[in-house]
Order: sequence, then C-alpha cells, then structure tokens
Amino acid sequence: MKMEKTPHIAILPSPGMGHLIPMAEFAKRLVEHHHISATIIIPTTGTPPKAQTTVLESLPENIHHMFLSPVNDLPENVRPEIIINRIMQGSLSSLRDALSCLKSKTKLVALVFDMFGHDSMEVGKEFNLCNFLFFPMSAMALSFTFTLQKLDEETTGEYKDLPYPVKVPGSISFHGRELMAPVQVRTDEVYKGYLLLSKRLTLLDGIMVNSFEELEEETIRVLRDDVSGQTPIYPIGPLIQSDPSNGSDRHECLKWLDDQPSGSVTLVSFGSGGTLSLEQIHELAHGLEMSNQRFLWIVRSPSKASNASYFTGSSQNDPLGFLPEGFLARTVNRGFIVPSWAPQIKILSHEAIGGFLTHCGWNSTLESIVYGVPMIAWPLYAEQHMNAKVMTEALDLALRLETDENGLYQREEIKKVVKVLMEGDEGKKISKRLKELKSAAMKALSDGGSSMESLSKIALQLKQRPFP
Ligand code: UDP
Repeated sequence: MKMEKTPHIAILPSPGMGHLIPMAEFAKRLVEHHHISATIIIPTTGTPPKAQTTVLESLPENIHHMFLSPVNDLPENVRPEIIINRIMQGSLSSLRDALSCLKSKTKLVALVFDMFGHDSMEVGKEFNLCNFLFFPMSAMALSFTFTLQKLDEETTGEYKDLPYPVKVPGSISFHGRELMAPVQVRTDEVYKGYLLLSKRLTLLDGIMVNSFEELEEETIRVLRDDVSGQTPIYPIGPLIQSDPSNGSDRHECLKWLDDQPSGSVTLVSFGSGGTLSLEQIHELAHGLEMSNQRFLWIVRSPSKASNASYFTGSSQNDPLGFLPEGFLARTVNRGFIVPSWAPQIKILSHEAIGGFLTHCGWNSTLESIVYGVPMIAWPLYAEQHMNAKVMTEALDLALRLETDENGLYQREEIKKVVKVLMEGDEGKKISKRLKELKSAAMKALSDGGSSMESLSKIALQLKQRPFP
C-alpha cells in the first residue's frame, strides 16, 4: 500500500457475519461514491472461517483487510456476547499496532466500530481519529440503546421482572423479557459493556444505522430530534450483501428453485447462528410437511442454546440424521434441505420464493424487505424479539407464531401460519406493503435518496477532518 492522498478509514467489525457483511457493504459504498479508501481490521481466534474470507476476498481492491493476532484462552460454555466482548478487548493492543501501521501509510482519519467494539474509542482518540459507531441493528434498537442509561438509573432488578412495559422513544413498548439479550442479566459483563456503550453514544462523532428513513421514519425523527443530542445519526441502509460471489458453481438449492413455480416456496432460515432444540426441529419439520407448501430449509444441528452455531455458521453433525424418520422421503417433491451455509440472498431474490420464516436477525429482515418477501417471525436471541414485535405489530410486515406454554412452536401452529402467509389474505396484504417498501428501499440507495444523502454527509465529515 503506498501513501494515499484520499482519506482512509479503519473499520473494525466484531466477530459474526451479521456485523462484517453490512460493514463491508458500507465500505464499498463509501469507496465507490466518495473516493475514500478503507481497511477492514478483523479480530480473530485462529484461522478465519470460510464464510468470512469469502466476503473479504470479494471486496474491491481499494478496500484492504488485515487480521489481528488471535485472542486465546476464551471461556467455554458462556453466551456468545461474552466471547465477543473478550475477543474485542483482547484485540485492543494489536488494533493499536494495526492503526499505527495504517497511519504511516495512509491518510487515516476515522475508526468505525460496532456495538461490541466501543472500547476502541480510546485507541481512536490516541490516533486523533473520528470515532464512528456502525450500528448494524434497527433505528428502534439504537433508540433503545440511547435510553438504556436512564432505564438503568430508574429501575432495580432484572428488566424481565419489571411490572410495566419499556417504551422505546419513537417506537413501541416492550415487555422486559423481550428486550435485547445484552441487557437481560444486569450483573454480568455483557450488560456492563452495553450500558457503557449507552453512556458513550453522545461522545461519538457520528452513528451509522443500517436502516432507512422510509422504513423507520418516526423512530429516526425522534432519535434525531429528542434522543441523540449532538451526535449525528446517519441512516445508511438497507445495506445487504450486494454481490455475494459463489463463482461459477451455482448452489444446488438454486437449481432446485429454478424448477419451482413463482412465489411458491417458503425459505426457512435462522441466520448464521440460530439453532433449535431437537424437539423444536421435529415440530418444524412436521409443520412444514402438514402445510403442504413448498419449502427450502437451511437446517442446523439441534442444540439447547439458540445461538450455538454463531461463530461457525454451520452444523456440527449431519442434520439429516436428526430429522423425523421418513420426513425427507415424504417431502422429496416439495422440500429442499440445505444442511449448512446457503446463499441466502440469492435464494431470497429468486422468483420462486414467496415467504420467509426468519429468526428476525436484522440483516435477514432487511434482505426480506429489499426483495419484497413476506415474513413469519420466529425470534431466537440477540435483539430478535424486539425486531419481531416491530415487524408484526408496528410495521405489519410479518406474521407472528404463537408458542405453547412451554415456549414451543407446535406443528399445528406452524402449519397454519405458513399456509396463511403463502395462501391467505393476510399474506397478500403483507406482500403488497412490501412491494412499496421494496421500491422505497431502492430509492433510498439511489442518487439523491435518503441513505445516499447520509453517506455524502459522512464523506464530507471525513474529508473535513484535519490530518496532521
Ligand atoms: N446467511 C447466509 N446463509 C446462511 C445463513 C445466513 O447467507 O445459511 C446470511 C444472511 O443472508 C444474513 C446473515 O447471514 O446476511 C445473518 O445475519 P442476521 O442479522 O440475519 O442474523 P445473525 O446471523 O446475526 O443472527
């Protein structure tokens, strides 16, 4: 890399594809439209997973990437958020080295990190950089994060035990148990880290949020007018992976989709990390079978934890072994199972897809909106319960599944809701609304669109940053 004259930004995604993908897309847009170059700095625990290197290797040449020294001695059998926090903290000293190296070769002006990387603000300051938060969740989740500090001061005990709902400014109210996972155990280090983020938000030079004004208009307005103080809020979405390269070999599931009627297939996917219990996998399999609808299911090995494959994005065992006996044979003409990572965006953009049973990860939600696919909400972890509630109750973009008293989605319920989505009036209404939003999303990211305007403002802020 020779010394550049254009402003350069360092981007630090925390582990997990759900952070890397939108941050890489953000870098692509900034580089393509504003003559800014970027380096993505990746914390590691060893050899990077294939899903990660595929994304990094497909980036244009003016977006570089570097891996930080692996962080070892991580605790076992703890929540992924604890592991992510430890990895980010253990990477701070090698981040310092990486920034020092970048500073000697580029006109480094800013550090962009996500909600697990805010301890690097101090490092950013040492290098006299602008500190930006890339918030890969919704504007609603950002509004909640701003208010957490106040909620913390005003309440005691766990939020799940609060006798009243928590109102998110500019959005709806949530029961304490629906709030995002990082705030569920107030005594643990994840909570303390997230609370610290809440306190630091007003110290940032700006926050990019992966949403767009037409989707969360009221929330974004309230965020700007009443919540965020002096910190600029930049909705820059919907940023989804624009060109997932999978070379010349087209995934088998896409070939299968080619032979299915238009809008007839429900995609079932729980993101990069979502896993179900064995019992729940069986209920889902029976529900899909009983619905008589076509389906494409990205299935992972069963696990008691709902996010067991978060770091690997794949199954540990052969999933076909734990599906109900005879299920594959009985559904062979209308079902397709992918037992590991599948090209979700290519699937969602395929003509044959007409519905999406999703865990409501924010990336998956945006992908569904961009491709106009009606959703069924099946939240598992992170902030997915909040997303599911906004999608079903506030925005009417998804149908909700009801659990039984043990928290299980039973086969009858799954069958009923899949049928309503694919054949019923409610499904058609959602489909119509999504068509409008789909064009609003495209407009937001076109010249003069709301998200492109945000991007221009960020570029201006970066270009005006004095470089010693
Ligand atoms: N994804 C994919 N193939 C898979 C599973 C997931 O391409 O088999 C992608 C999906 O398209 C999305 C991301 O991984 O871009 C998952 O992000 P999301 O925020 O939906 O959920 P998370 O994985 O963070 O829970």
